Amino acid sequence: MSAGRPGSGVTVRVPAKVNAQLSVGAPRPDGFHDLANVFLAVGLYDEVTVTPAETLRVTCSGPDAGLVPLDGTNLAARAAVALAARHGISPDVHIHIAKDIPVAGGMAGGSADAAAALLACDTLWATGSTRDELLAICAELGSDVPFSLVGGAALGTGRGERLTPLPIRGTFHWVFAVADGGLSTPAVYGEFDRLTAGTDVPAPAAGEDVLRALRTGDAGALAVALTNDLQAAALSLRPELADTLAVGMSAGALAAVVSGSGPTTAFLVADRWSAEKAADELLMSGTCRSARVALAPAPGASVV
Ligand code: ATP
Repeated sequence: MSAGRPGSGVTVRVPAKVNAQLSVGAPRPDGFHDLANVFLAVGLYDEVTVTPAETLRVTCSGPDAGLVPLDGTNLAARAAVALAARHGISPDVHIHIAKDIPVAGGMAGGSADAAAALLACDTLWATGSTRDELLAICAELGSDVPFSLVGGAALGTGRGERLTPLPIRGTFHWVFAVADGGLSTPAVYGEFDRLTAGTDVPAPAAGEDVLRALRTGDAGALAVALTNDLQAAALSLRPELADTLAVGMSAGALAAVVSGSGPTTAFLVADRWSAEKAADELLMSGTCRSARVALAPAPGASVV
């Protein structure tokens, strides 16, 4: 891993994610759910800068900055503390998050910041950690954190943290409609449990059709294969998201899906022109706060 200049800060750029497939199993005895999570990193980025400081502190800039906790519960701060503890050093850094990933939007923004802070601190402190050691800390911090480090496309099993990189070809065009307000991921899983109570929830599995569509770079095939088992729960908690999904489809999207636990909605489109058109129509419809165009796959966390 490259070292930052002595005395200077280290900045890491990290992508958001969308789920090409989110297959959710029944709740386990520990309350977590087994998943088959086909992650795709998309080109919306946070930038996390760490600089030596007297004591650990977090600042955040960007339109959603007011929604981000700046205390020890911030996932980026937790990542710095975890890495420092592992190496017996004091986590005295100023962490600045330039936030462009929607907060509580089902795009793994907090997880992205954790992975970015971990890589930035590891570079700043020159700990000599291996990739596997960093991935192990990521998995302790949260189910989506390892993927934020790795990027590209990957299948996550277990709670989503056990990653297998997936082959992917070409570029997929996406539009993301950012909703007003967030949705709590635990609340969405709780609603999933309520809606599926008494039913036979199948074991989660990645669909061969999704994997083939990614492997062959076939957006039309991916559109047919996109699924999210949390969508019904997110729509149950936020019924108005159905309007956003409908607007995106009538604007020409190939497919529309709730992103992760929502409330961001994701639209797969054919090309750049279709993306701009769908984003304009989504914004004009008044069914979302903003609409963002992004490409996938994007690289994982990397020092800039
Ligand atoms: P996921 O897709 O992984 O379920 P999400 O995208 O829905 O997550 P986040 O943006 O990660 O949601 O934020 C979820 C909550 O985590 C926020 O409401 C906030 O209180 C907390 N949080 C902690 N650290 C951060 C961070 N660095 N950035 C954003 N939120 C953070």
